[in-house]
Parts: sequence; structure tokens; C-alpha cells
Amino acid sequence: MEHSFEKNLERYADLIVQVGLNLQKDQELLISAPITSYEFVRLVTEKAYEAGAVNVLTDFYDEELKKIRLEKSSEKGLKAFPDWKAKGYIEMAENNVALLNLAAPNPSLLRNTDPTRVALLNRTSAEAMKDFSAYIGGGKISWLIAAIPTTEWAQTVFPEIPKEEAFNKLWENIFYTTRTDQENTVKLWEAHIHNLNKKANRLNEGKYNKLHYKGPGTDLTIEFHPQTKWISAQFTNDKGIPFVPNLPTEEVFTIPVRYGVNGVVSSTKPLNYSGTLIKNFSLTFKEGKVVEYSAEEGYETLKNLLETDEGASYLGEVALVPHDSPISNTNIIFNNTLFDENASCHLALGRALSVCVEDGKSMTAEQLKEIGYNESMIHVDFMIGSAQLNIDGEKADGTIEPIFRAGDWV
Ligand code: ZN
Repeated sequence: MEHSFEKNLERYADLIVQVGLNLQKDQELLISAPITSYEFVRLVTEKAYEAGAVNVLTDFYDEELKKIRLEKSSEKGLKAFPDWKAKGYIEMAENNVALLNLAAPNPSLLRNTDPTRVALLNRTSAEAMKDFSAYIGGGKISWLIAAIPTTEWAQTVFPEIPKEEAFNKLWENIFYTTRTDQENTVKLWEAHIHNLNKKANRLNEGKYNKLHYKGPGTDLTIEFHPQTKWISAQFTNDKGIPFVPNLPTEEVFTIPVRYGVNGVVSSTKPLNYSGTLIKNFSLTFKEGKVVEYSAEEGYETLKNLLETDEGASYLGEVALVPHDSPISNTNIIFNNTLFDENASCHLALGRALSVCVEDGKSMTAEQLKEIGYNESMIHVDFMIGSAQLNIDGEKADGTIEPIFRAGDWV
């Protein structure tokens, strides 16, 4: 048992370095991670140097310190962000750094913290890091989000078993969903990405200018601009190096026309937004904008999320994920977007992704706006897929074709 755990762990670190980041010789790596994850960070650092990294930098943070700040700091303090930090990130990005964002979350840490103060602090850092976010959103540099368990996280996923057991079980499921419990992980991933690219191409060939979603609590129409395209989560950075920014990933996705979303959509999994779970919520769209919303739990957090800025109440991503996928088949709600979004069709509120626009990287903000590109400080995925979801594609001439039936590809 212990032996195979170590092996899986090593394969996971290798996958992060070789497939996720696709780290190149003499490239710099920056790891942003909570202090609790230092052991795994050391393993990734070792693997990164073995892959030829010139230097591995770490930006450790502590979620408990964030909580203390949220509770004790003045409002003025919550609006402060060190300029040197924002500048340092830009400097590293200009130097073609690869960024690993390693999550080891405690999903209910901020359950009793004032959501308005949480929103204020989030806005402060989103605003200060806006220029750096453009490197990420535009796929200019290689980046990756991956996660490792914490006991607090594991307990929210498996509340019925002792915490030690829950922690191990969450690791097992991370190994399973990232295919790192198998011998030839890297090869398996190459085949998997190839498959996703094929699905995206088929959608592009269909030239659908609308999708119609129908399911329990959902009746939604989304429009697309002909210059946008469906892609898998395999991007190519400005140096021409491919990378996979999410591990695991099962989605193909594109961006909607900002003002072309109408109808109602209901969430099918809880959304963990900066330390608070939002459960059973639904959004009503009119000409792209959320005009009405409700939530059984976390209403205040949803409200703050939608009111972050103008673009936060418009969509920036439309993603298709079959209900029959390794993550979905675990039948586990991970309470973590990285996993839950890859088990389920989803949408994202906020900033659109320029990687989904033909020639998007070289277009100005004005030009992007003209094709219905949404701007926002945030980009937050939420899950709407289920075994009851049907999706139809509509072509320019009005022809309707089935895309998803009962939650799966037709
Ligand atoms: Zn997505």
C-alpha cells in the first residue's frame, strides 16, 4: 500500500511537470502553494530540476493567515496590495516563467467570515494582479492548476468516515481521476488530449451558432460568434510550447456572445467560491446578463460574486463534459471546481477566454469586444450538467442537431 502510494505520488508530480506545465530546459518555475503542502512542493521541485528547470521559486501562503487578516484588518488594510508583488509576477511572466498553482484547500474555512470583506479582499488582489492575469487568460505563459488533499477538504467530501481514512480516500480518487494510478500515465494523457481535440474539431465543423440546453430547472439558449472556436484544455504558449492548464481535464469549451444568453439555468453541484459553498442556485439571463438569481445556501456570496464588476453577471465560458467520465463515474462531489467542473457541463461567470477566439491573441480589447467578448476581474465556473441534460445545436440556416442526450455526447 505505502509503496504504491509513493509511486502514484511520483507519477502525479511527473504528470504536473511533463504534461501539465510541459516544463522546458532552462525554464523558470514558480510554485504558488499553501504552506501545508510543502512536502509535495519539494517533490515537484525535484522533478522540475530533473526536467531541466533553471530555477524553481516558491510563493507560499497560509489560508489561516488570510482568515486572520479578514477578521482583524481595517477596511483600508483589505484594499492594500504590495506593488512589488504584482511587478514581480509580471517580471517573471516576461521571462517566460511556468506557473504551478497548487491548491490544498479548506473549503469551509471562511464559512463564518463576512462575505463582503472576503469579496473586498478578492477584488483587491484581482485588480492588482490584472495585468498578470492577462498572461494566464491569454495563454501567453504555461500555467497549471492542480490540487492535493487536506483533511479538512477530505472531510467535506467523505463526512461519514474518519478523517484519516477520508484523507487517503481523497488521494486515491485524485490518483484515479488524473490517471496517475496507472503505469503509463504520460502516454495515457497524450491519447486523452488527442481525443478531446477530436471532439472540439467535430463541434467546429458543425458551425453551430446557438446551443439550446434543456434539463430540470434549465431552459437556456447561448449564442456564439463565428470567429470563436471550441478547444480542449491544451493551450500553446507564446513560445509555441503546448501545455495543459488543468489536471484533470475532461472538457471542450468555447466562449459565448456576451449579449447572446437567454433563459434560466440551475446548478447541479455546489460551488466553492473563496471559502464558502453556494448550493442549489439558479440564474436567469436576459440578453446575456443575470437579471434574477436564487440560492438555497450561500446567497450572499453569490450576490457578491455577481456584483464584483459589470462583467461578473455575464458569461465567459461554455464547456461540454460527458456525464460518463472518470471523474463523474466516481459519483463523488469533490466540493472543488477543478474536479467538479470536469465531471459536468459547466458555464463560467466573468472573463472570457481569448484562446477561444481565432487570432484572439493578437486582437485589441476593442476588437474582442466587437465579437461579444466579456471582460471581468473574475472567471468562476459553475456546474450545470446531469444525466437529464439535453443539448441541441442550431446552425445558421436553422437546422437543429442533437449534441448531448441524457448528459452524454450523441
Ligand atoms: Zn471550464
